[in-house]
Amino acid sequence: MLAPRVRFAPSPTGYLHVGGARTALFNWLYARHRGGKFILRIEDTDEARNTDAAKEAIFDGMKWLGLDWDEGPGAGGDFGPYFQSQRKAIYDDYFAKLEAAGRVYFEDNGAARFKFSRQPILVPDMVCGDVHFAATEEPDMTIRRPDGSYIFHFVNVVDDIEMKITHVIRGEDHLSNTWKHIDLFHAFGKHAPRYAHIPLILNPTGSKMSKRDEGSAISSYQEAGFLPDAVFNYLCMLGWTPKAGEKLDRATLIAAFEPSDIHSANARFDMTKCTWFNAQYLRELSPESLLSAALPFLERHGLQIADHAMAAKAVHSVREKVSLLGELPSWVHYFFTDDYSYEPDVMTKLKAKPENANLLGELKADLGNLAPWDEHSVHAGIEATAARLAVKAGALMPLLRFALSGQSRGPGVATIIDLLGKDRTVARIQRTLALL
Ligand code: GLU
Repeated sequence: MLAPRVRFAPSPTGYLHVGGARTALFNWLYARHRGGKFILRIEDTDEARNTDAAKEAIFDGMKWLGLDWDEGPGAGGDFGPYFQSQRKAIYDDYFAKLEAAGRVYFEDNGAARFKFSRQPILVPDMVCGDVHFAATEEPDMTIRRPDGSYIFHFVNVVDDIEMKITHVIRGEDHLSNTWKHIDLFHAFGKHAPRYAHIPLILNPTGSKMSKRDEGSAISSYQEAGFLPDAVFNYLCMLGWTPKAGEKLDRATLIAAFEPSDIHSANARFDMTKCTWFNAQYLRELSPESLLSAALPFLERHGLQIADHAMAAKAVHSVREKVSLLGELPSWVHYFFTDDYSYEPDVMTKLKAKPENANLLGELKADLGNLAPWDEHSVHAGIEATAARLAVKAGALMPLLRFALSGQSRGPGVATIIDLLGKDRTVARIQRTLALL
């Protein structure tokens, strides 16, 4: 079989939304699965509604998700330009072909209509099965406006012919018009591509996902601290259930993808599940990868990262506590500033028992004399202090955690102490003692 040529053909009228991204993703998967080409074509003929910001959002969102295109803006290709706004001469050419074939007539106002064949039309769809359309009784379709601009159905078909598109994978909202496209293909003497109309994405309440719904814009995932691999994986599950399971890496998803496996029933968006995917991906990252993903979030929080090795261990130590990169600063901020604040509730509790200050004083003295300094020796040191004072080590840990971080939650206390080092540990206990 010939290597397929598929395309994602967004209209740049808003941001890149979840539905569009999933359409792009399924096209990309199919191209990669079959060793074909994935083409990005910008359907920007509607000047009034198109914006440069929307184009950038499409490029950024696709790059963020790792959906690289083989042909299109920035990538070149033999069938450009890849912006419809720059293809007028091609459309004029094709219009002349239709005219020569006797399939065009003009209105008094100069608009041009395409004479439908008025035959029954079959759409063999890889997802929806055979969809039969009876011979239409609709009025013939306007394909060119009086100002000479062309309408969507016309340019969409011309470009699919010109760009040698073999498979059209797109949203189900286009299925009802596909007979018009097929009628045009035939009028040009061409076979229509294979179609796969993929189900809509519904929000949790069951209505069509809209711009106002949480998780609708791809940029919102980036901002909240999702990992592209996790979102990629989750989007695959909106309408597809690979036999190998749900949490799968890209190579496995590429190998498994078949358009005919996409469900025809609508998919339901579930932010909780998407977040769960992200949590799984986060905890699998190496300390270095997690830090590089987390850095923009730490910096946005005003944290200055001087010691990258320590920072990598710090974020890694709380990887199982968070689901989003955006949650990390609140878990690790005290590693990067000695001017950390204390949770008010815990401070009140700490002050309520006078012996707490004594215990911290003893810990400060013992830890100050400890050598060597690593997680293991620190742990043993705290146990020794506990034994000497005849208290449980488990009672000292929360005190230390609070003194060193101001928090009642966090990674293991020995981990915090190891990462802070001896000088900062002793200084922090002293800082806390001064407040008691
Ligand atoms: N510009 C159309 C859209 O964004 C493309 C439809 C198609 O893929 O054929 O819905």
